[in-house]
Order: sequence, then C-alpha cells, then structure tokens
Amino acid sequence: NRRFLLQKRPHGTPQRDDFSLKTGPVPTAPEGGLVVRNRYISLDPAQRGWMDDAPSYMPPIPLGEPVRATTVGVVHESRHPDFAPGDWVLGLNGVEDYSVVTPGGFTSKIDVSIVDRPSRYLSAVGAVGLTAYFGLTDAAAPRAGETLLVTGAAGAVGSMVGQIGKILGLRVIGIAGGAEKCRRLVEDYGFDVAIDYKGIDDRGKAVDALAAEVAAAAPDGVDILFENVGGDVMDAVLLNLALHARVVLCGLISEYNAPEKIGIRNLWQVIVKQATIKGFLIAGYVPRFAEGGAAVAQWLGEGRLRVDEDIQHGLDNAYDAFMRLFTGANTGKLVLAVD
Ligand code: NDP
Repeated sequence: NRRFLLQKRPHGTPQRDDFSLKTGPVPTAPEGGLVVRNRYISLDPAQRGWMDDAPSYMPPIPLGEPVRATTVGVVHESRHPDFAPGDWVLGLNGVEDYSVVTPGGFTSKIDVSIVDRPSRYLSAVGAVGLTAYFGLTDAAAPRAGETLLVTGAAGAVGSMVGQIGKILGLRVIGIAGGAEKCRRLVEDYGFDVAIDYKGIDDRGKAVDALAAEVAAAAPDGVDILFENVGGDVMDAVLLNLALHARVVLCGLISEYNAPEKIGIRNLWQVIVKQATIKGFLIAGYVPRFAEGGAAVAQWLGEGRLRVDEDIQHGLDNAYDAFMRLFTGANTGKLVLAVD
C-alpha cells in the first residue's frame, strides 16, 4: 500500500520534500467499515488549503497522514452490510492505493455503467459539475440575456460554468491563461469571448490593461462574476461590474500559494455598483446533489456539455501531477489514475 503523505506544512508553493511516498501493508477493514482500492484520485486546488493549519470548513490534514482526496475506487474488503467486494464507490479518502473507511465515513456506491469511465464521478457528475451547476444556477441567480464573466475559465469548474451559462441564455466571457486556452474557450466550449490574462512574458497583465479588455468585451458591464482566481484578475473585473451585479466567490487560486494573502483592492466597486458578493461552498448543497446531478447528466446526455479530463498516472507522480493546477498545465479536471 503506497501512501502519499504530508510531511511538512508548505510555506508558499508546495515543495517536493513537503511530501513522501511510503509503502506499508494493505490495511484490513474495521468492524462496520471498508477497505477501498482507489482507482482514480481527484487532485483539487482545495487540497492546498487543507495542507495549511488555518480555520477552514475541514480540519487540516494531519502531518504524517496521506493527503486527503476524493477518490473513486472498488471495495476490496467489506465489513458493512450495504457494501460488497467489487462495488464501485466514491468517497473522501486519501492519495494512496488502499483507504480504510471507518463506520460513518463519507462513501457512496456509484453506478459506473451510466458513464463512459469511472473518473466522470470526479468531474462531470462529481463535485466539479455540481459546483458549476449550483454556483451558477443557484448562487448567481442568472437571467437570460445577462453577461456572465468566468475567471479560471478553461479549468474544470470554469469550463462547465461557461457552458451552463450558454445553455441558460447568457452572454459568456472567459478569462484564462494563454492563447491556446483562449482558443479552446471559444472553439471547444462555446464562450462568446475569451480574454488572456497573461502578457507576452507569461506574467499577468496589469490590472488597468486587463480591465480595458474586459470593458471592451462587456460594454454594458458584467452582471455575474463567477470568481475562481482572485487577485489582479478579480480586481480588473470589479472595475467593470454592472449595476446590481452578483459576484459568486467560488475560489481564489491565485492566493493559495501566496505566503501572504494578496487581497482585493477594488472592493469599493461593490458599493458603487450596489453589487452582492456571495461565498459559495459545494459542501453546503449536499441535500440537493441528486437534483444537480440529474440536470448535469441530462445536458451531458444531450451532448450540450463538453467535459475534459487531464488524467495523470501513478502515485509516484502525485507531486508533479498536483502542481499542474498551479502552473496551469492541466487541461480539464485533474485526475490521478492509480495504475
Ligand atoms: P482548474 O481545473 O481550474 O485548475 C486550476 C487553474 O487555475 C489552472 O489550470 C490555471 O489556469 C489557474 N491558475 C492557477 N494559478 C493561477 C494564478 N496564480 N492566477 C490565475 N489563475 C491561476 O481547477 P478547478 O476547476 O478544480 O478549481 C477552480 C477553482 O474553483 C479553484 O479556485 C477552486 O478552489 C475552486 N473550487 C471551489 C469549490 C467550492 O465549493 N467553493 C469547489 C471546487 C473548486 P490558467 O492556465 O488559466 O492560469
């Protein structure tokens, strides 16, 4: 059983030696619990937050323990009446070959016959799809004809938000890093406009320059900002809010590796435009997962949503794979396949 352990709390950008890969015996199931053999491991920006010892919606990952992760796997041993060896399950486990699920732990059976591959439960019909669905349809309260701007637009959540926006009749602008991602936004995901936040030297453009590009793309202002990035990108969009705009704060990835939080300088625009900022956390929507899952599954079945996955391989590759989220190398939902 190989386990990818958190050895040190990262200061800023995670370093290779903040982690270690240790091998041990395959665990046995506790009374009323399970052992799951993980097949697909979700690598998410949220894991970076769980590595810090700071107040959050979950306790920090204990040092010396595997990096916490949502996984899709197969029941290896069961001492629970509702699960049998061979059942496919989704749960909150760790970056490791085998995970022990204690009684009451979060694990549910999944039907892999309705998807083209089990990793879909980490992307399209998993937390990513539900975040896009509820973040837009519920938290943003969209009305057809409005202008939606998505940051981190070419990523797992962002690309789905933009496509759902088009389904709902919105005009959709995406901001992403680099010409190739911007091409994909328009050609693959159907965004109306794509804006590259990076300059020619690959660093972020100045706030004023980016704000001018947003102004050109949204002459009547941005009614809904779906924010995944924060920092300068968010500051540029705040200068272009429409009256009574709604800002859904879903993520602030530009800050996750910053040793000091960056913060937002144009917050006063929220007052000027009488806008609303709403913090969004998918965990708050658990009672409505079936509803959201059904809606996303229907759009997928109708071919109206394109969901890309960036599948990396091997537990010994966990660090390099995880870092793709922060260099922008990932093209779609980042998943580690345990081969
Ligand atoms: P993505 O697939 O979007 O991957 C992360 C992307 O973020 C990268 O590809 C990169 O794209 C971009 N990025 C990385 N660093 C920076 C930076 N410094 N400045 C600007 N962009 C950067 O990941 P997810 O779709 O899984 O997550 C997207 C966001 O959604 C995250 O902020 C995450 O925390 C949040 N989230 C929130 C949830 C909630 O319940 N609130 C649930 C799920 C996700 P590029 O090349 O364009 O820079």
